[in-house]
Amino acid sequence: MTARVLVVDDLEPNVKLLEAKLRAEYFDVLTAFSGKEAIARAKADQPDIILLDVMMPGMDGFEACRTIKNTPETSHIPIVMVTALDQQTDRVQGLSAGADDFLTKPVEDLALFARVRSLTRLKVMTDELRMRYATGRSLGVVDPTALMPDLEDGGPARVLVIDDQTGQAERIQQLLDPEKFETSAEIDPEIAIGRVKSGDFDLVIINMSMESMDPLRLSSTIRSFEETRMTPMLAIVRHGDARKLVRALDIGVNDYLTRPVDAHELSARVATQVRRKRYIDRLRCSFEASLEMAVTDQLTGLYNRRYLASHLSAMFDRAQWTGQPLSVMILDLDHFKAINDTYGHDAGDAVLQEFSDRIRASVRAIDLACRYGGEEFLVAMPDTDKKLASVVAERLREEVANRPVILNDGRDELVVTVSIGISSTEDNAAEDSAQKLIKRADEALYAAKAGGRNRVNQSKAA
Ligand code: GH3
Ligand code: MG
Ligand code: MG
Repeated sequence: MTARVLVVDDLEPNVKLLEAKLRAEYFDVLTAFSGKEAIARAKADQPDIILLDVMMPGMDGFEACRTIKNTPETSHIPIVMVTALDQQTDRVQGLSAGADDFLTKPVEDLALFARVRSLTRLKVMTDELRMRYATGRSLGVVDPTALMPDLEDGGPARVLVIDDQTGQAERIQQLLDPEKFETSAEIDPEIAIGRVKSGDFDLVIINMSMESMDPLRLSSTIRSFEETRMTPMLAIVRHGDARKLVRALDIGVNDYLTRPVDAHELSARVATQVRRKRYIDRLRCSFEASLEMAVTDQLTGLYNRRYLASHLSAMFDRAQWTGQPLSVMILDLDHFKAINDTYGHDAGDAVLQEFSDRIRASVRAIDLACRYGGEEFLVAMPDTDKKLASVVAERLREEVANRPVILNDGRDELVVTVSIGISSTEDNAAEDSAQKLIKRADEALYAAKAGGRNRVNQSKAA
């Protein structure tokens, strides 16, 4: 996977060195020599990852990091802080400025490539979700505030520590603030996998020096299940265990800590992972919500015509394949225009809502009920022959005609009637299709209207 890396350092030799290393591994490299320039380039060039020097004159790396992370157009770009000294305080400060990771100068090749690869892989996924999110937003159905990642928002984060040494697991747990993190530990790998799968954890911490099982296998197993594909993993590695670390990152472990574990660093890294996960969760949720809104009619909550168009042909194909009949009814309220004219548009809306509720109540879960037009509805019923469809339609017609719609908190009662046309794959039409089913039901409806309304009419067999 190739990625575009923005390298930021005030000293040209440092930039050149990183640039050469990254180019040798076929990364695209962009460069900047100050915090201000970094912010501008991030915005304009949208790199996949930023390597950001901490010590720079004028605006330092922390400040640049904070600005990039707080700017909506660049907040999703992963940032690795590059520090001159292996200073714990720098790391913590960097992470709280929103940095995703840090490297120490002189930059070790293995760590550099592993970090860049791991973070760009993650970014590919978030980019996909961001794109879908943008689609949702252009449909006008996604709330932009839903994107602001706030760790505290979702209550304490659920963290599972997997370690065959109970004492070590407990120590990790003790280092995490119980107000922010709800931790538990697991020493048995099989049980651990089951718990991760069903537990909806925000983060899993894995001791990479475990001996009772292969921690790399455990990590790859967690990555392989649908339910846990996205669960962040944090590895605890022994100092100098570079090979294992690189493999862990390749498998999909998101971040790591070296023993001895520093409390601040642990908290900062755990917090970063949790924030990232919640950000992704929110992207996905808002995408699902926008999908749902895109297929749902706002007034009645039934499916809309767009959804019907794509789904009815699938139902039709299935009917052909199983040999079971598929029936369709189209329902149209009688003289609905008069209701609007007499009682007003809001009353008309209330009638449409009440009518939809009655449709919903009289069809099965496998039936597809949708609002087909203004006061026109369509119900597709799989595994239903024409006779049964007529019974359902007749019951619904009576249910509407016999029970007036209550309006204005009971002050008005309105008698509404409906006409229904039915068609079915049993009509044996030549080269039948979903479209033709609809057309026949529509013709049957038209005949029901012509015949005096408030009645059910079946299409004629071909
Ligand atoms: P028919 O018995 O022949 O079906 O007569 P009708 O009056 O029901 O049919 P027509 O197609 O003439 O009028 C339908 C009316 O439905 C006109 C339109 O203003 C109204 N309508 C369409 N959508 C909505 C809506 O969302 N809310 C309300 N209140 N009215 C709607
Ligand atoms: Mg009508
Ligand atoms: Mg009409």
